[in-house]
Amino acid sequence: MPLTGQLIVGFARVSTAETFDAVDAASGAKLGPPFSVAGPAEIERACALAQAAFDPYRTAALDLRARFLDTCAESILALGDELIARAGLESGLPRARLEGERGRTVGQLRLFADVVRRGDFLGVRVDPAQPERKPLARSDLRQRKIALGPVTVFGASNFPLAFSAAGGDMASALAAGCPVIVKAHPSHPGTSELVAGAISSAARACDLPEGTYSHLAGPANELGAALVADPRIKAVGFTGSRAGGLALVKIAAARPEPIPVYAEMSSINPIVLLPGALKARTEAIATGFVNSLTLGAGQFCTNPGLVLALGGPELDRFLSLAGEALAKTAPAQMLSANICANYRRRVDHLASRSVSLVARGLEAGGGSVGSGALFVTDAREFLADRKLGEEVFGPASLAVRCRDMAQLAAVLEHLEGQLTATLHLADDDATIAARLIPILERKAGRILANGWPTGVEVSPAMVHGGPFPATSDSRGTSVGTLAIERFLRPVCYQDLPDSLLPPDLQSGNPLGLRRMVDGGYTSS
Ligand code: NAP
Repeated sequence: MPLTGQLIVGFARVSTAETFDAVDAASGAKLGPPFSVAGPAEIERACALAQAAFDPYRTAALDLRARFLDTCAESILALGDELIARAGLESGLPRARLEGERGRTVGQLRLFADVVRRGDFLGVRVDPAQPERKPLARSDLRQRKIALGPVTVFGASNFPLAFSAAGGDMASALAAGCPVIVKAHPSHPGTSELVAGAISSAARACDLPEGTYSHLAGPANELGAALVADPRIKAVGFTGSRAGGLALVKIAAARPEPIPVYAEMSSINPIVLLPGALKARTEAIATGFVNSLTLGAGQFCTNPGLVLALGGPELDRFLSLAGEALAKTAPAQMLSANICANYRRRVDHLASRSVSLVARGLEAGGGSVGSGALFVTDAREFLADRKLGEEVFGPASLAVRCRDMAQLAAVLEHLEGQLTATLHLADDDATIAARLIPILERKAGRILANGWPTGVEVSPAMVHGGPFPATSDSRGTSVGTLAIERFLRPVCYQDLPDSLLPPDLQSGNPLGLRRMVDGGYTSS
């Protein structure tokens, strides 16, 4: 179906009088068609439908929910090249990246379909009755997790496919049994509409309730704010700026019934170059660092924005090699004029503090393109100036020269919460590394050795989360199968007759789930 610019409210395509335009990220030219702006009537209808869909959707057979997620994946693939071409225009991202992102999007939908089919996310626990127990008999207690309720998901500017209309937040919420209302990111409304159309037709093909999925768009804060404030919405998934995430957290907390907001916001992803590794592999580390820094014009939340090492000839050599490589790096198209302007402003701000420039990437004449930037300062300055620890979204990084390991540890202690922290280490660095790991565990959601934080595997063990401000709730992850936990809550059933229990909890285990019975795991 060609792009219409319409909203998708349940199964209905809806036009409104007020519209906004999509923009070509590279040229700044308007892209048709005009996109309808969701107002109070569309918000009301989408929330009412989502609420009505909640019980039938969450209680539908797990096989049906899994088939729906698989059908979503197939429907996205069926969009073919039209999706990649539109996403390329709206985001400025190159074809290869977008094809990879589509693979990830489809892969995570299928991964969640498997999770749903297996059913172990229900976390069933059975404590059988002990009527003979003295001094008190024990009741029959059975626990499982159920979906929280309708969820609002905000599309992310930097992942038009994998974190937008059918991205990780949406897939994990639908897998949990929550209807989803997507608030499209205003920088890629056409991409979002195409994907949303695919999801809506998948819901219809699977005979799911109409409000299982809706897609609303609009370029102003009011739409997202109204969705988060709506009493029928029970949780929020968000990836974007710290200011945006915090605004949503505030709205959610001020509701008569506060709700969780899972906001993934800002991180500078420290890279620690330990002395043995720096000495042994200076060149390889410098090359790997510049590649990671400039990947995707640095527009990843896992971009390596901070490098820590002891001052000395090895660090000087690293800076010189990294600077040489960066100086040859071509400027890259950024996601939008707004993000590019933010990037330039923040680089200028960083340059105005007590830092020295190591190198800039090649500059371009015009357009929304970003050039890499590497600065250096010393630990004393870094510890004295909180601003030096703020995220610069784009290909910029700051190296910090530390006097000794105690000062390097002090810099790590001083950092805010992070998505990732990376150690580059050689065998002779093991003792120092062991001392730093407890600090990194307190600071970050993922700790890497001898690698680069960009590139996030979608898998059961992945954590893409971390203490504030990396996220607003460090207990979860937005990537990987554990993401489903954010949209579930436990319910205990005490002494209910088998006939009234859901099949997951019944004594005969008709679904063949892996369950914890009397404290031990069993599949019978
Ligand atoms: P954003 O400004 O936070 O916007 C993300 C989404 O939240 C949009 O749909 C926006 O919609 C909505 N929103 C923002 N503030 C809101 C508010 N006060 N109330 C209600 N809704 C609100 O992020 P962005 O547009 O992606 O990029 C802006 C900056 O965010 C970037 O320059 C970068 O610094 C940062 N960013 C960081 C990451 C990361 O992973 N760390 C990722 C992306 C962006 P409306 O504008 O339509 O209200």
